[in-house]
Amino acid sequence: MHKITKAPLPLCGLARCFLIEKHLPSVNVVRKRQFCSGNGGDLGKNEVYDVIISGGGMVGSTMACSLGMDPNLADKKILLLEAGNKKVMDKVPDTYSTRVSSISPGSATLLSGIGAWEHITEMRCKPYKRMQVWDACSDALITFDKEDLENEMAYIVENDIVVVSITRQLDTLSDNVQVKYRSKVVKYTWPMPHHAAESVPWVQVTLANGETLQTKLLIGADGPNSMVRQELGIPTVKWNYDQSAVVAALHLSEPTENNVAWQRFLPTGPIAMLPLSDTHSSLVWSTSHRLAEELLELDEESFVDAINSAFWSSENHSELIETAGSLFRGALSAIMPSAGSPRQLPPSVAGIGPKSRVMFPLGMGHASEYVRHRVVLIGDAAHRVHPLAGQGANLGFGDVACLTQLLSQAAFNGKDLGAIQHLLEYETERQRHNLPMMAAIDLMKRLYSTDVAPAVLLRTFGLQATNMLPTLKVSSLFGSQPTWTSPPQHQPPANP
Ligand SMILES: Cc1cc2nc3c(=O)[nH]c(=O)nc-3n(C[C@H](O)[C@H](O)[C@H](O)COP(=O)(O)OP(=O)(O)OC[C@H]3O[C@@H](n4cnc5c(N)ncnc54)[C@H](O)[C@@H]3O)c2cc1C
Repeated sequence: MHKITKAPLPLCGLARCFLIEKHLPSVNVVRKRQFCSGNGGDLGKNEVYDVIISGGGMVGSTMACSLGMDPNLADKKILLLEAGNKKVMDKVPDTYSTRVSSISPGSATLLSGIGAWEHITEMRCKPYKRMQVWDACSDALITFDKEDLENEMAYIVENDIVVVSITRQLDTLSDNVQVKYRSKVVKYTWPMPHHAAESVPWVQVTLANGETLQTKLLIGADGPNSMVRQELGIPTVKWNYDQSAVVAALHLSEPTENNVAWQRFLPTGPIAMLPLSDTHSSLVWSTSHRLAEELLELDEESFVDAINSAFWSSENHSELIETAGSLFRGALSAIMPSAGSPRQLPPSVAGIGPKSRVMFPLGMGHASEYVRHRVVLIGDAAHRVHPLAGQGANLGFGDVACLTQLLSQAAFNGKDLGAIQHLLEYETERQRHNLPMMAAIDLMKRLYSTDVAPAVLLRTFGLQATNMLPTLKVSSLFGSQPTWTSPPQHQPPANP
């Protein structure tokens, strides 16, 4: 009989090695026997999985890895389906990718727990300690810096590097996590909530190649246009913003320490410069669709001029706002002489990476339900946000941490993983976290998409006051921190 012991999250990788080398062969024998008997020996067709994850983006692949490494789920059969190719990288590319994410310390802890973070940092990852956000209409600013927080503020990582590092980790879990790339799901068939004779009790998944699979729990991680969500007919609140994001890899004019993330709110939308190295940063410029298209058409020199001007120009200033802002700042300084953070100036841009300009239309979406009988939504399939706070993937990583914990607990208690009871717990917990964050991001997008004087004054006073009050500043900083407690100890069944 095998015995699996509880391992705290940071030690999961070690625990995994131990399990694979010492104990998994016996676990596998038991598992294979169970599957043979459960399927009449037909392993190729209509195979029943405990969990199928549909969509292997950053969130879905993290989910697969996180479940695969949980000791309480070691005897479960898990499958990840991804429509695209397997992402591999023999070495760090010379050029930076345009798709990067700001990863919060909480998400980094989760990625570390699944053994991917070390590889990410070995490849390429830039921590930053300060973030300066300011308003182009008034130059009112707020600075979040390390003095206000215990650790790094966040890390900028290329999305491909995140996926490659998780994929590498998934390769080590092939005993209980199977991954099928270039496997697009074309159809789902849902089970009845109450088992009826003749009906299949599991979710059926049909792939483009005609293969049919079954699962006790389907996790929809198939992105903002989720087919899982649509086929279930889950009501979704969604709208397109009047903005697209232009992203590019930037060369700085001169090497700098470059450990600050910069974001300036222009009336047309926020422009952000995120550090990648001493000489490179990443651009996320959210603006009107028309201006975004024009920016893509510009020659490199004009594009670089447009970026520098967007960070430096004072064309949106108004005398009235400036006077009111400086009076308010003066009054605050009189009350709190030592408060407030100094203004820093962003680096200037000298060039862009080859073929690095891409544009994405922006939108917001929220599924009113994250769960149904034997189905659960995670990541952008459940919620999509504007990138101004760099929170989309972080919210998804929070979903992964929460769902892993609940499924681990369910397995530990010998419960059916697809049962709605614990899935509802996931929905409640995550909606409680995600909804206020989404509302705040949407409000911020709206508040800053105008140069009407009362709105500009309101946000100018708000930013200045917040910048003076460290505690308010820390609590107002967007920071999705997936939490994790180690799974309960697995109890070997009395009669394995
Ligand atoms: C410009 C921009 C900047 C951003 N910056 C940040 C940031 O700084 N920080 C942050 O946290 N977030 C950021 N985000 C948001 C972040 O990119 C997303 O939240 C995140 O990528 C969502 O990941 P996901 O895995 O849920 O979905 P996706 O990345 O959309 O992955 C879905 C996967 O499912 C697969 N799939 C879809 N349909 C099927 C099917 N039928 N069968 C099989 N596979 C299927 C797809 O191939 C894909 O791989 C940003 C977004 C944008 C647009």
